[in-house]
Amino acid sequence: MALYPYTELLRYAIEHKFTVGAFNSLNMETLQAIVGAAEKKNVPLIVQTYHAHMEYAGPGYMSAICEVAARNSSVKIALGLDHGRTYEQAKRCIDSGYSGVMIDLSSEDYGYNVAETRKVVELAHSKGVSVEAELGKILDADQPLSAIASNYTDPDVARKFVKETGIDCLAVSIGTAHGFYKHKPVINLDLLKELVDTVPCPIVVHGGSNTPDEDILSIVRTGVAKLNVGTDFFAAYTQALHDFMQEHGTKCDIMKLMEAARSAVEKIACDKIDLLTKFMV
Ligand SMILES: [Zn+2]
Repeated sequence: MALYPYTELLRYAIEHKFTVGAFNSLNMETLQAIVGAAEKKNVPLIVQTYHAHMEYAGPGYMSAICEVAARNSSVKIALGLDHGRTYEQAKRCIDSGYSGVMIDLSSEDYGYNVAETRKVVELAHSKGVSVEAELGKILDADQPLSAIASNYTDPDVARKFVKETGIDCLAVSIGTAHGFYKHKPVINLDLLKELVDTVPCPIVVHGGSNTPDEDILSIVRTGVAKLNVGTDFFAAYTQALHDFMQEHGTKCDIMKLMEAARSAVEKIACDKIDLLTKFMV
């Protein structure tokens, strides 16, 4: 199977009352781990590369290995750019075969965000590629709770933004954050529910790592279509490498070492998918 645009996977998720995992990957092992988990659980998957990781690997490498994964997979797979910074960066991913791109200009002023996002939408849609944008600002998880809350997405602005840009899904700021939380996150479920119910496109939540399971389930229950997870996988990967080398030394078998890391990531991905599909019908 080829790589699918987000729109199809998100529509299916909304219909069947689950949330699609948008899991970050930057190499073959992390890709095989998350695809392996999606296959075990028989659910579609959005593979993502964070913009800096995409630059590290090169967009052609990620789309090439992801296409191999999709071709050999029993589940539908999309490949997306995560937090794309510019039109040019999004274009390079589209040209390399990505089936979705995020353009994140949430730190810029509203008019610029709309104009640049529209440009990406025009190009992407002409190639059958989906677009995600962000409104309100999703901060890093080491920020104080008050700062995270002061950057929440405004529902009125969000409704207007989606109409003006024609995006396929919108990332919102509702209390989750990127990376390792310093304080237990406080999720504004009323705001999230209002966004899901009134914004005319599927809603995306970022910061799905080290968020307590009960909070993930509450997020899923509101009807969020896509949940981004990255940090938990990379933490499991590096921890497994560390533990394996602690036990077997640095002269260990590289294949067994990488296999240990891949298995660790797959286990976390399976656990996440169980949460995301808890209410699936
Ligand atoms: Zn994010």
